Amino acid sequence: MTPTAQPSIVSSFTKENVCLKISKSGELYTAIVPIPSFTSKQVLIHIKCTGVCGSDIHLWKEGGIGDMRIEDDLIIGHETAGQIIAVGADVTHDLKVGDRVAIEPQLPCGQCFLCMNGNYNLCQEVDFLGMPNMNGSMQRYLPFDPKFCHKLPDNISYEEGALAEVFSVAYHGIERAGGLELGKGAMIAGCGPIGLATLLLANSSGAYPLAVTDISQERLDFAKVLVPSVKTYKLDMKLSVRENAEKIRALFGTTEYEMPPNVLECTGVASSINTCCYVVRRKGTLTVIGVSGKNEIDGFPFMTVSFGEVDIKFVNRYKDSWPAVLNLFASRKVDALKFVTHRIPLETAPEALKTFYNPSIRSMKVMVKDDINLL
Ligand SMILES: [Zn+2]
Ligand SMILES: [Zn+2]
Repeated sequence: MTPTAQPSIVSSFTKENVCLKISKSGELYTAIVPIPSFTSKQVLIHIKCTGVCGSDIHLWKEGGIGDMRIEDDLIIGHETAGQIIAVGADVTHDLKVGDRVAIEPQLPCGQCFLCMNGNYNLCQEVDFLGMPNMNGSMQRYLPFDPKFCHKLPDNISYEEGALAEVFSVAYHGIERAGGLELGKGAMIAGCGPIGLATLLLANSSGAYPLAVTDISQERLDFAKVLVPSVKTYKLDMKLSVRENAEKIRALFGTTEYEMPPNVLECTGVASSINTCCYVVRRKGTLTVIGVSGKNEIDGFPFMTVSFGEVDIKFVNRYKDSWPAVLNLFASRKVDALKFVTHRIPLETAPEALKTFYNPSIRSMKVMVKDDINLL
Protein backbone atom coordinates (compact mmCIF):
# COMPACT_ATOMS: atom_id res chain seq x y z
CA MET A 1 0.00 0.00 0.00
CA THR A 2 1.46 3.38 -0.93
CA PRO A 3 1.15 5.97 1.80
CA THR A 4 -1.02 8.93 0.90
CA ALA A 5 -0.56 12.52 1.99
CA GLN A 6 -2.75 13.74 4.86
CA PRO A 7 -3.21 17.43 3.95
CA SER A 8 -6.54 17.94 5.73
CA ILE A 9 -5.03 17.03 9.11
CA VAL A 10 -2.06 19.35 8.59
CA SER A 11 -4.26 22.30 7.65
CA SER A 12 -6.10 22.00 11.00
CA PHE A 13 -3.01 23.19 12.88
CA THR A 14 -2.85 26.95 13.01
CA LYS A 15 0.36 27.60 14.99
CA GLU A 16 3.16 28.34 12.58
CA ASN A 17 6.11 25.98 12.20
CA VAL A 18 9.10 27.72 13.77
CA CYS A 19 12.45 26.02 13.12
CA LEU A 20 16.19 26.45 13.60
CA LYS A 21 18.25 26.29 10.43
CA ILE A 22 21.94 26.18 9.59
CA SER A 23 23.24 27.31 6.22
CA LYS A 24 26.25 25.87 4.43
CA SER A 25 28.20 29.03 5.26
CA GLY A 26 27.48 28.70 8.98
CA GLU A 27 24.55 31.06 9.49
CA LEU A 28 22.29 30.04 12.33
CA TYR A 29 18.75 31.42 12.20
CA THR A 30 15.14 30.74 13.06
CA ALA A 31 12.60 30.65 10.24
CA ILE A 32 8.94 29.94 9.70
CA VAL A 33 8.49 27.05 7.28
CA PRO A 34 5.45 25.06 6.12
CA ILE A 35 4.35 22.17 8.33
CA PRO A 36 6.21 19.21 6.78
CA SER A 37 4.16 16.93 4.56
CA PHE A 38 2.91 13.90 6.40
CA THR A 39 1.83 10.54 5.01
CA SER A 40 -0.80 8.01 6.04
CA LYS A 41 1.95 5.74 7.40
CA GLN A 42 3.44 8.39 9.68
CA VAL A 43 2.54 10.10 12.90
CA LEU A 44 2.83 13.87 13.26
CA ILE A 45 4.61 14.97 16.41
CA HIS A 46 4.63 18.29 18.22
CA ILE A 47 8.28 18.47 19.25
CA LYS A 48 8.45 19.62 22.86
CA CYS A 49 12.13 19.32 23.57
CA THR A 50 15.42 18.78 21.69
CA GLY A 51 18.89 18.58 23.20
CA VAL A 52 21.88 20.29 21.59
CA CYS A 53 24.64 17.83 20.70
CA GLY A 54 28.30 18.18 19.75
CA SER A 55 27.44 16.99 16.23
CA ASP A 56 25.13 20.02 15.82
CA ILE A 57 28.15 22.21 16.51
CA HIS A 58 30.16 20.41 13.80
CA LEU A 59 27.34 21.04 11.33
CA TRP A 60 27.23 24.71 12.30
CA LYS A 61 30.95 25.46 12.49
CA GLU A 62 32.31 23.08 9.85
CA GLY A 63 29.37 22.80 7.44
CA GLY A 64 29.11 19.05 7.87
CA ILE A 65 30.45 15.91 9.48
CA GLY A 66 32.90 13.80 7.47
CA ASP A 67 31.46 13.22 4.00
CA MET A 68 28.01 14.52 4.96
CA ARG A 69 28.00 18.18 3.90
CA ILE A 70 25.23 20.75 4.21
CA GLU A 71 24.04 21.83 0.76
CA ASP A 72 20.58 23.30 1.33
CA ASP A 73 19.89 25.07 4.63
CA LEU A 74 19.22 22.33 7.19
CA ILE A 75 16.93 22.04 10.20
CA ILE A 76 19.08 20.37 12.86
CA GLY A 77 18.20 18.38 16.00
CA HIS A 78 18.06 14.66 16.82
CA GLU A 79 17.85 14.24 20.63
CA THR A 80 14.16 14.69 20.96
CA ALA A 81 10.73 13.99 22.42
CA GLY A 82 7.24 15.30 21.82
CA GLN A 83 3.52 14.66 21.69
CA ILE A 84 1.64 12.90 18.89
CA ILE A 85 -0.87 15.32 17.41
CA ALA A 86 -2.04 13.27 14.41
CA VAL A 87 -1.88 9.65 13.32
CA GLY A 88 -1.87 8.67 9.65
CA ALA A 89 -4.81 6.56 8.45
CA ASP A 90 -2.61 3.52 7.73
CA VAL A 91 -0.65 3.48 11.00
CA THR A 92 -1.11 0.13 12.76
CA HIS A 93 1.14 0.77 15.78
CA ASP A 94 -0.34 1.28 19.22
CA LEU A 95 -0.07 5.07 19.12
CA LYS A 96 -2.79 7.66 19.45
CA VAL A 97 -3.21 11.41 19.50
CA GLY A 98 -1.98 12.77 22.85
CA ASP A 99 0.66 10.05 23.42
CA ARG A 100 4.01 11.34 24.60
CA VAL A 101 6.97 9.79 22.78
CA ALA A 102 10.75 9.81 22.59
CA ILE A 103 12.11 9.57 19.07
CA GLU A 104 14.80 7.15 17.98
CA PRO A 105 16.28 9.40 15.30
CA GLN A 106 17.38 6.81 12.75
CA LEU A 107 15.43 5.47 9.79
CA PRO A 108 17.29 2.42 8.47
CA CYS A 109 16.32 0.94 5.08
CA GLY A 110 14.78 -2.24 6.55
CA GLN A 111 15.88 -4.25 3.49
CA CYS A 112 19.65 -4.77 3.63
CA PHE A 113 21.34 -7.75 5.31
CA LEU A 114 22.27 -5.64 8.34
CA CYS A 115 18.67 -4.56 8.85
CA MET A 116 17.46 -8.12 8.22
CA ASN A 117 19.82 -9.66 10.78
CA GLY A 118 18.89 -7.17 13.48
CA ASN A 119 21.86 -4.83 13.21
CA TYR A 120 19.84 -1.95 11.85
CA ASN A 121 22.15 0.55 13.58
CA LEU A 122 24.78 -0.39 10.96
CA CYS A 123 22.50 0.10 7.92
CA GLN A 124 24.38 1.99 5.22
CA GLU A 125 21.22 3.44 3.68
CA VAL A 126 20.05 5.07 6.91
CA ASP A 127 18.43 8.49 7.08
CA PHE A 128 19.29 10.29 10.30
CA LEU A 129 17.29 13.11 11.80
CA GLY A 130 18.97 16.53 11.57
CA MET A 131 21.82 15.34 9.36
CA PRO A 132 22.35 16.61 5.80
CA ASN A 133 20.02 13.99 4.31
CA MET A 134 17.04 14.78 6.56
CA ASN A 135 15.62 17.84 8.33
CA GLY A 136 15.72 17.44 12.11
CA SER A 137 13.62 18.08 15.18
CA MET A 138 14.39 21.70 16.02
CA GLN A 139 11.00 22.65 14.61
CA ARG A 140 7.50 22.59 16.01
CA TYR A 141 6.11 19.82 13.77
CA LEU A 142 7.82 16.59 12.76
CA PRO A 143 6.34 13.65 10.85
CA PHE A 144 7.99 10.35 11.75
CA ASP A 145 7.86 6.59 11.32
CA PRO A 146 5.80 5.20 14.24
CA LYS A 147 8.21 2.24 14.55
CA PHE A 148 10.80 4.63 15.96
CA CYS A 149 8.50 6.49 18.36
CA HIS A 150 8.76 5.09 21.90
CA LYS A 151 6.02 5.90 24.40
CA LEU A 152 7.19 7.72 27.51
CA PRO A 153 6.26 6.14 30.85
CA ASP A 154 3.91 8.45 32.79
CA ASN A 155 6.56 9.56 35.28
CA ILE A 156 9.05 10.58 32.58
CA SER A 157 9.32 14.16 31.29
CA TYR A 158 9.90 15.26 27.71
CA GLU A 159 13.40 16.34 28.72
CA GLU A 160 14.18 12.83 29.90
CA GLY A 161 12.65 11.53 26.69
CA ALA A 162 15.12 13.67 24.73
CA LEU A 163 18.00 12.50 26.95
CA ALA A 164 17.18 8.89 26.07
CA GLU A 165 19.23 9.45 22.89
CA VAL A 166 22.45 10.18 24.78
CA PHE A 167 21.81 7.32 27.20
CA SER A 168 21.10 5.00 24.27
CA VAL A 169 24.65 5.51 23.03
CA ALA A 170 25.95 4.59 26.49
CA TYR A 171 23.49 1.69 26.80
CA HIS A 172 24.53 0.21 23.47
CA GLY A 173 28.18 0.61 24.50
CA ILE A 174 27.58 -1.42 27.65
CA GLU A 175 25.69 -4.04 25.65
CA ARG A 176 28.59 -4.26 23.21
CA ALA A 177 30.93 -4.69 26.17
CA GLY A 178 28.90 -7.78 27.05
CA GLY A 179 27.45 -6.08 30.13
CA LEU A 180 29.22 -5.01 33.28
CA GLU A 181 29.84 -7.31 36.22
CA LEU A 182 28.27 -6.95 39.67
CA GLY A 183 30.90 -6.03 42.21
CA LYS A 184 33.64 -5.77 39.61
CA GLY A 185 35.38 -2.61 38.55
CA ALA A 186 34.87 -0.43 35.51
CA MET A 187 36.72 2.61 34.28
CA ILE A 188 35.15 5.29 32.08
CA ALA A 189 37.30 7.71 30.11
CA GLY A 190 35.77 11.14 29.48
CA CYS A 191 33.14 13.10 31.41
CA GLY A 192 31.18 14.66 28.56
CA PRO A 193 27.48 13.74 28.26
CA ILE A 194 28.19 10.25 26.84
CA GLY A 195 30.83 9.49 29.48
CA LEU A 196 28.58 10.65 32.30
CA ALA A 197 25.60 8.71 30.90
CA THR A 198 27.86 5.66 30.81
CA LEU A 199 28.89 6.35 34.41
CA LEU A 200 25.26 6.54 35.56
CA LEU A 201 24.36 3.31 33.77
CA ALA A 202 27.48 1.58 35.11
CA ASN A 203 26.59 2.70 38.62
CA SER A 204 23.05 1.37 38.30
CA SER A 205 24.42 -1.96 37.00
CA GLY A 206 26.15 -2.76 40.29
CA ALA A 207 29.69 -2.61 38.89
CA TYR A 208 32.11 -1.40 41.60
CA PRO A 209 34.54 0.28 42.04
CA LEU A 210 34.09 2.86 39.31
CA ALA A 211 36.63 5.41 38.13
CA VAL A 212 36.38 8.25 35.60
CA THR A 213 39.04 10.35 33.89
CA ASP A 214 38.99 13.73 32.18
CA ILE A 215 41.27 16.68 31.53
CA SER A 216 38.83 19.05 33.29
CA GLN A 217 38.62 19.10 37.08
CA GLU A 218 35.21 20.73 36.83
CA ARG A 219 33.80 17.81 34.83
CA LEU A 220 35.32 15.34 37.30
CA ASP A 221 33.67 17.25 40.14
CA PHE A 222 30.34 16.99 38.33
CA ALA A 223 30.84 13.22 37.94
CA LYS A 224 31.30 13.07 41.71
CA VAL A 225 28.03 14.95 42.24
CA LEU A 226 26.26 12.38 40.04
CA VAL A 227 27.90 9.33 41.62
CA PRO A 228 29.58 10.22 44.95
CA SER A 229 31.41 6.88 45.19
CA VAL A 230 33.22 7.29 41.85
CA LYS A 231 36.98 7.69 41.93
CA THR A 232 38.24 10.47 39.69
CA TYR A 233 41.55 11.06 37.94
CA LYS A 234 42.58 14.26 36.16
CA LEU A 235 44.79 13.31 33.23
CA ASP A 236 48.21 14.96 33.46
CA MET A 237 49.23 16.06 29.98
CA LYS A 238 52.86 16.27 31.10
CA LEU A 239 52.91 12.53 31.75
CA SER A 240 53.09 9.81 29.12
CA VAL A 241 50.06 7.71 28.23
CA ARG A 242 51.58 4.84 30.18
CA GLU A 243 52.34 6.95 33.26
CA ASN A 244 48.75 8.23 33.35
CA ALA A 245 47.53 4.65 33.01
CA GLU A 246 49.65 3.56 35.99
CA LYS A 247 48.07 6.28 38.14
CA ILE A 248 44.57 5.22 37.07
CA ARG A 249 45.37 1.57 37.84
CA ALA A 250 46.52 2.61 41.32
CA LEU A 251 42.93 3.78 42.01
CA PHE A 252 41.78 0.17 41.68
CA GLY A 253 44.48 -1.57 43.72
CA THR A 254 47.88 -3.12 43.40
CA THR A 255 47.32 -6.52 41.76
CA GLU A 256 46.30 -7.38 38.21
CA TYR A 257 43.21 -9.10 39.65
CA GLU A 258 41.95 -5.79 41.05
CA MET A 259 42.23 -3.97 37.74
CA PRO A 260 38.96 -3.15 35.88
CA PRO A 261 37.80 -5.95 33.57
CA ASN A 262 35.75 -3.34 31.70
CA VAL A 263 37.01 -0.04 30.37
CA LEU A 264 34.64 2.21 28.44
CA GLU A 265 36.29 4.91 26.36
CA CYS A 266 34.01 7.89 25.70
CA THR A 267 36.20 10.53 24.04
CA GLY A 268 37.53 8.98 20.82
CA VAL A 269 40.83 10.81 21.44
CA ALA A 270 43.87 8.68 20.52
CA SER A 271 45.82 9.31 23.74
CA SER A 272 42.77 8.35 25.80
CA ILE A 273 42.16 5.14 23.82
CA ASN A 274 45.82 4.23 24.25
CA THR A 275 45.69 5.01 27.99
CA CYS A 276 42.66 2.71 28.30
CA CYS A 277 44.61 -0.11 26.62
CA TYR A 278 47.15 0.10 29.45
CA VAL A 279 44.48 0.29 32.16
CA VAL A 280 42.21 -2.64 31.28
CA ARG A 281 42.76 -5.93 33.11
CA ARG A 282 44.33 -8.77 31.17
CA LYS A 283 41.53 -10.76 29.48
CA GLY A 284 39.27 -7.73 29.94
CA THR A 285 37.27 -5.72 27.44
CA LEU A 286 37.88 -2.20 26.17
CA THR A 287 34.81 -0.70 24.51
CA VAL A 288 35.42 2.42 22.46
CA ILE A 289 32.20 4.42 22.49
CA GLY A 290 33.84 7.75 21.58
CA VAL A 291 34.32 8.82 17.97
CA SER A 292 37.13 11.12 16.88
CA GLY A 293 36.58 11.41 13.15
CA LYS A 294 40.26 10.53 12.57
CA ASN A 295 40.86 7.48 10.42
CA GLU A 296 44.00 6.27 12.19
CA ILE A 297 45.42 6.51 15.66
CA ASP A 298 49.09 6.68 16.60
CA GLY A 299 50.77 5.03 19.55
CA PHE A 300 48.42 2.04 19.85
CA PRO A 301 49.89 -0.31 22.52
CA PHE A 302 49.64 -3.42 20.42
CA MET A 303 51.80 -5.72 22.51
CA THR A 304 50.03 -4.91 25.78
CA VAL A 305 46.57 -5.73 24.44
CA SER A 306 47.94 -8.70 22.52
CA PHE A 307 49.68 -10.29 25.54
CA GLY A 308 46.66 -9.55 27.71
CA GLU A 309 44.15 -10.95 25.15
CA VAL A 310 42.14 -7.78 25.58
CA ASP A 311 38.92 -7.64 23.56
CA ILE A 312 38.46 -4.27 21.89
CA LYS A 313 34.97 -3.38 20.72
CA PHE A 314 33.46 -0.41 18.93
CA VAL A 315 30.06 1.18 18.88
CA ASN A 316 28.02 2.73 16.07
CA ARG A 317 24.77 4.44 17.10
CA TYR A 318 22.29 2.14 18.93
CA LYS A 319 19.57 -0.43 18.46
CA ASP A 320 16.69 -1.60 20.61
CA SER A 321 17.79 0.65 23.46
CA TRP A 322 14.97 3.19 23.97
CA PRO A 323 12.55 0.93 25.89
CA ALA A 324 15.31 -0.18 28.30
CA VAL A 325 16.66 3.33 28.83
CA LEU A 326 13.15 4.72 29.44
CA ASN A 327 12.53 1.91 31.95
CA LEU A 328 15.74 2.80 33.76
CA PHE A 329 14.61 6.42 33.97
CA ALA A 330 11.15 5.34 35.15
CA SER A 331 12.75 3.19 37.88
CA ARG A 332 14.54 6.32 39.14
CA LYS A 333 17.75 4.33 39.33
CA VAL A 334 19.20 6.71 36.75
CA ASP A 335 18.65 10.44 37.16
CA ALA A 336 19.27 11.96 33.76
CA LEU A 337 17.72 15.35 34.51
CA LYS A 338 20.85 16.53 36.33
CA PHE A 339 22.40 16.83 32.86
CA VAL A 340 20.15 19.71 31.85
CA THR A 341 21.87 23.00 32.60
CA HIS A 342 20.08 25.37 30.20
CA ARG A 343 16.61 25.66 28.68
CA ILE A 344 15.98 27.90 25.64
CA PRO A 345 12.60 28.53 23.91
CA LEU A 346 12.25 27.36 20.29
CA GLU A 347 11.75 30.96 19.11
CA THR A 348 15.27 31.89 20.27
CA ALA A 349 16.88 28.53 19.45
CA PRO A 350 20.15 29.97 18.00
CA GLU A 351 20.95 30.94 21.61
CA ALA A 352 20.94 27.25 22.53
CA LEU A 353 23.83 26.45 20.18
CA LYS A 354 25.68 29.61 21.17
CA THR A 355 25.30 28.69 24.85
CA PHE A 356 26.55 25.16 24.22
CA TYR A 357 29.48 26.44 22.16
CA ASN A 358 30.61 29.14 24.60
CA PRO A 359 33.19 27.60 26.96
CA SER A 360 32.77 30.35 29.55
CA ILE A 361 29.09 29.40 30.04
CA ARG A 362 29.90 25.83 31.19
CA SER A 363 26.86 23.94 29.98
CA MET A 364 26.27 20.19 30.00
CA LYS A 365 22.96 19.72 28.17
CA VAL A 366 21.15 22.65 26.60
CA MET A 367 17.50 21.98 25.74
CA VAL A 368 15.43 23.77 23.10
CA LYS A 369 11.87 23.75 24.35
CA ASP A 370 8.41 24.44 22.97
CA ASP A 371 6.17 24.53 26.00
CA ILE A 372 2.90 25.47 24.28
CA ASN A 373 0.07 22.96 23.82
CA LEU A 374 -1.25 22.22 20.35
CA LEU A 375 -4.00 19.83 21.45
ZN1 LIG B 1 23.62 13.66 19.68
ZN1 LIG C 1 19.42 -1.36 5.93
